[in-house]
Amino acid sequence: MVRVLGYFRDGKNFAEPVGEIELDADTEARIAELGISRRGLLTSLAGMASLMALPQSIIPAMAQTVVSPKKPSVVYMSFQECTGCLESMVNSFAFRGGASIENLLLNIISLDYQETLMAAAGAQAEEQLANATATPNGYVLVVDGSIPQIANSGFFVSGGRSGVERFRAAAQNALAIVPVGTCASFGGLPKADPNPTGAVSIRTLMTQLGISKPLINVPGCPPIPEVITGTILYYLTKGLPSLDSLKRPKIYYGETVHDECYREEYFEDGPRVAVFDDKAARFGGCLIDMGCKGPVTHNACSTIKWNQGVSFPMMAGHGCIGCAEPDFWDRLNINGKKGFYQRLAPGSFDD
Ligand code: SF4
Ligand code: SF4
Repeated sequence: MVRVLGYFRDGKNFAEPVGEIELDADTEARIAELGISRRGLLTSLAGMASLMALPQSIIPAMAQTVVSPKKPSVVYMSFQECTGCLESMVNSFAFRGGASIENLLLNIISLDYQETLMAAAGAQAEEQLANATATPNGYVLVVDGSIPQIANSGFFVSGGRSGVERFRAAAQNALAIVPVGTCASFGGLPKADPNPTGAVSIRTLMTQLGISKPLINVPGCPPIPEVITGTILYYLTKGLPSLDSLKRPKIYYGETVHDECYREEYFEDGPRVAVFDDKAARFGGCLIDMGCKGPVTHNACSTIKWNQGVSFPMMAGHGCIGCAEPDFWDRLNINGKKGFYQRLAPGSFDD
């Protein structure tokens, strides 16, 4: 029997025994060949399946995908970004309790191009990009950062080509495109008013360039590591997940941060924090009056949490700033004011 840490939508962590999981002979042989712990792998995958609300029966298929010698090619390109999304992705450690494979994502995929992680530079790196993107439908294109929409604006030029040209060329043969982070998904910080570079989201640019490919937005500033890993693993195992109107996977973005916040019981009748470190703050009251954007922000922070389930912003006493939503820097709050500490405008949420 494999005991699995379950992380369920009630926000409580508890151990859930999972029965024996049968794998096909090839997968068993491959696990042995790789020298990884079967228990550790299955624990990781069961944890991820639980987060995605998938049944236990999916675990053998996930295991097959993860240990397959034919690793799917991923080309990861960075544009106008801060590298926080990549930093988050490389922290996609084996799901809590499944410590046998150090980094689940980097074991699933063949990361064939990534400017920050690869050893190659200059002409060698450009050659690697050309090789990695040569096969039609041969790779998943992960993108972070937004792109200045004017090809010759002078903003974001790399390898002698504008961001638009680099993206257009890389997108042509992609199987699917996964913008990671709010900059790629919605424009993010580079697009914040007054948007000096003319930055746009990947989805907007694809429309302008007439590129039609499956698209999965994974917003967040940065996104939660397990959400990045889980989205890619889901796509490789089951295809496109169910998406909301902003192309976000509903398995992770179907609820607001507020829906599962443990402070929600104080939302209606208080106590509500009026000043950081007041009596209500020390009690753990609701942060809505401190500008918390939890009620209008779709993300999994209050269920999956951060740092392998250790905490999330409201547990640290700070409200959500809405980082997984479009234009969160420029949101107009009460009295038409911008600002992370401005209370949400009446009528913008279910008060
Ligand atoms: S702290 Fe924020 S997310 Fe939590 S209950 Fe209050 S408004 Fe909702
Ligand atoms: S709590 Fe809000 S601001 Fe913080 S990471 Fe989650 S969605 Fe982003």
